[in-house]
Amino acid sequence: MTSIVTTAPLASTHPSGFGDMVAEFHVQNLRHLRFTAMVVLVINLLHILIFLMAEPPATALEQRWHWGVVTTHAVMAVFMVVSGLLAHAQLRSSGSAPASGRLVLVVAAVGLAFCCLLAVIDQWVTPNITPVMVGSICLSLLFLIPPRQLLWVYGVACVATIGALGLTQNDPALLLNNRVNVLTIMVMGWVLARLLWHKTVERVQLQRELQASNEQLRRQEAELRELATHDPLTRALNRRAFFERGQFLLQVAQRHQRPLALIAIDLDHFKHINDVHGHPAGDAVLRRVAEFVSSHLRQSDLVARYGGEEFMVLLPDTDLPSAQALAEKLRAGLANTPFPWEDRVLTLTSSFGVTASTPVSTMDDLYAQADKALYQAKQSGRNRVEVWGG
Ligand code: GH3
Ligand code: MG
Ligand code: MG
Repeated sequence: MTSIVTTAPLASTHPSGFGDMVAEFHVQNLRHLRFTAMVVLVINLLHILIFLMAEPPATALEQRWHWGVVTTHAVMAVFMVVSGLLAHAQLRSSGSAPASGRLVLVVAAVGLAFCCLLAVIDQWVTPNITPVMVGSICLSLLFLIPPRQLLWVYGVACVATIGALGLTQNDPALLLNNRVNVLTIMVMGWVLARLLWHKTVERVQLQRELQASNEQLRRQEAELRELATHDPLTRALNRRAFFERGQFLLQVAQRHQRPLALIAIDLDHFKHINDVHGHPAGDAVLRRVAEFVSSHLRQSDLVARYGGEEFMVLLPDTDLPSAQALAEKLRAGLANTPFPWEDRVLTLTSSFGVTASTPVSTMDDLYAQADKALYQAKQSGRNRVEVWGG
């Protein structure tokens, strides 16, 4: 009885996420309740109208039957209005799951009780028990309620109806037949509700598993894309991705007659860092250098690790003097940046070669020019910026 009302037992007996799923069912139940309340209200009012407009009852028994049916429908109409409004309020305020669960359970139980009461009242004039059938089927189809809770609802309604039928049905054969029918209808109603509950739980769980594996696939795909285009150590673009994207940016620049510049960076005496402080220290420095360079670039600029300790920076919409100024800024910044490693502080300098595109440059041209300028910087003593053709 407690699994829909309190969440604690759910967590312990069901896989994780089951509580969320039941909370979703509550919302769905509330929506169904709000809609059903309106429909049942109309049915109640129509019944009242039809009975009021019908021929006046001929006998005292018929009069009692009329009064009973009209009164039951009137009370049920009021109950439906209140239930519909409560469901609406819960949906608007996104009320707590236990409160929603209780509301739906109470309405389901009382609704079935009304149907049974109508069937009992009907026995004064007719042997049919249609209201029990309607109530039982509607309850099983309209609401997703844990079967254990519904067992109580169906069980109590069944026992009470079988008992109450004896008050209004005097024919022993009809009484026996109706009692057996009520029992069958209630059992079938519960079985149907249980079936729907388990099927829905299974379907939702499958959907969730599918969503989770799709999500994982998307993540793996993104990781693979990242691995295919980026250097794993520094997270800068790899040579191939840089060349492809650079080629595109170069074509755009040439088509719109915009400037574009390329800076080649090579760390000075990097081998020395590895030799003295070890390879992991060199790796850490490479990562920090990539971060440092990236942090000085615009969103539209590209940075790639082109070789062991060589980086390339492509600057769309940047002319040669601006690229030279940026290279100078990077050079000074790197030379003045301490790289803490374990209990030591490492320093390093870098050399830069800068070039800019012409209307006919290719990426290979730009790379060759920047490389030549970089070579010039190395030859001139390192820790320098040289411009191609400068
Ligand atoms: P130069 O000033 O002439 O550029 O001297 P250099 O020592 O920087 O250049 P050289 O080409 O002699 O050495 C490059 C070094 O970079 C050698 C290699 O061990 C190191 N290196 C290349 N890739 C990596 C890497 O991924 N991690 C580390 N830690 N070192 C690397
Ligand atoms: Mg070097
Ligand atoms: Mg080198």
